[in-house]
Amino acid sequence: MMYLDLVRPLPPGGATVLELGYAFNVPEHGADRMGREGSLYEIAQWYPRMAVYDDVHGWNTEQYLGQGEFYLEYGDIDFEVTLPAGYIVAGTGVLQNPAEVLTPTQRERLARAIKSDSTVRIVTEPELRSGSARPTRQGSLTWRFRATNVRDAAWAASPEYLWDASGWEGILAQAYYRPSAIETWKDAARMSRYSIQEYSTRWFRYPYPQISAVEGPVSGMEYPMLAMEARGKDGSDLFAVVTHEIGHNWYPMIVGSDERRYAWMDEGFNTFINTFAEEGFGKRDDSEVRRQERELVVKVDQSPTAQPIMTPANRYKTSNNLLSLAYVKPSVALLTLRSKVLAPAVFDSAFREYTRRWSFKHPQPADFFRTMEAISGRDLSWFWRGFFYTTAALDQSVESVKQAEGLTQVSLANLGDAVMPVELELGFEDSTTEVVKLPVEIWYGGERYVYEDRSGRPIASARVNPDGTLPDAIPANDTWERPHSAGTRASAADERR
Ligand SMILES: [Zn+2]
Repeated sequence: MMYLDLVRPLPPGGATVLELGYAFNVPEHGADRMGREGSLYEIAQWYPRMAVYDDVHGWNTEQYLGQGEFYLEYGDIDFEVTLPAGYIVAGTGVLQNPAEVLTPTQRERLARAIKSDSTVRIVTEPELRSGSARPTRQGSLTWRFRATNVRDAAWAASPEYLWDASGWEGILAQAYYRPSAIETWKDAARMSRYSIQEYSTRWFRYPYPQISAVEGPVSGMEYPMLAMEARGKDGSDLFAVVTHEIGHNWYPMIVGSDERRYAWMDEGFNTFINTFAEEGFGKRDDSEVRRQERELVVKVDQSPTAQPIMTPANRYKTSNNLLSLAYVKPSVALLTLRSKVLAPAVFDSAFREYTRRWSFKHPQPADFFRTMEAISGRDLSWFWRGFFYTTAALDQSVESVKQAEGLTQVSLANLGDAVMPVELELGFEDSTTEVVKLPVEIWYGGERYVYEDRSGRPIASARVNPDGTLPDAIPANDTWERPHSAGTRASAADERR
């Protein structure tokens, strides 16, 4: 961290020029955020950057500590990469000198790709082998990139890169990979294109002219317009990483939150939007994955090392805490808020408005909470408190059922410190069922609530969380069933003998 006194104070809206000389040693393994493998380079965090000055903390001078990521300011970045002529370079921004570094054939294919729904091969394996993939094989070439309104810039280069591209609404979706990764990566340009389309149509239009997925030793890491991923075990494994790293273009690249303090505002929001992309691309139902995620959240929250979501990432006590607090729990919380508290359409318009309102700005957690409440028109303070500020358990229970003279009283209990609205499924003796929805406000009066049914129909069972999609800590107390009469119990026991 460098501190610099200006000769004269800089007024708001004023400009000054700083000239910094610097050098950068390329690490072999850049803590999984950059790296080198043989002749392949994935380069990031490689130039001096301004700290963010915001109206909450002033200058944000917290050091990068590995696990907590970055908090970066927006700007326009021009950079040049000079390499031996055999290299192909992918980078944040738009290539400014294609006539100097690409062949006429490649430029023609790129022009075709941006209008193409399907993948166009820009550099093929035979061209790579014959040397025709490069305009010259002598000396070096300089690739010039320009990126507008970005919070970072990174690049990747290899003399072995194959290159694919397609287009979506004028945005170029690209993939760069070595022949050793062709089995999984031959489909990567389509994965990039699908991700851009999915997040653009559901949440916020992608504001940049291109996206590049690059293959290499780093798996995975995100930069504006550039996503780094390894080879991947198979197509769905690769898609999960590609769409995750590309999803980070929305959080925190477009919505510039403070990753250093609040990992959940980028990893968690991204994990949430990834769930739609993965189900859509794979044309599959991931409800079993969602169930396992809820189980993980309950397990981590009930462990002796439990910490709340609001914990800074560099202070997580265990790797399971990192997984749950930064990624899984915020995603589970948003999915639960969407389907069980608000309605999908209401949640989606609020989340879209948060993304739009805070695009290219620096939201704090309260800005997110406030926007969701303002657009949905709901007081959600109980939700943020329960699921973001504490590790409180949610444990809804049916304690007892009394039936007399046409009145059924179902005693419900909230045994944990977190609250949620209640879905109560009543099973009647005539084998019909009915789901009653009770608002979260029933818990204002305490931990017990009696629901009364005056339909006169005798009930055989009562159950909370009937579809099992709430992260309820103790499912065993969710159901009440009418006891068998003494006679039937005896005969059942007889049969068992
Ligand atoms: Zn991530």
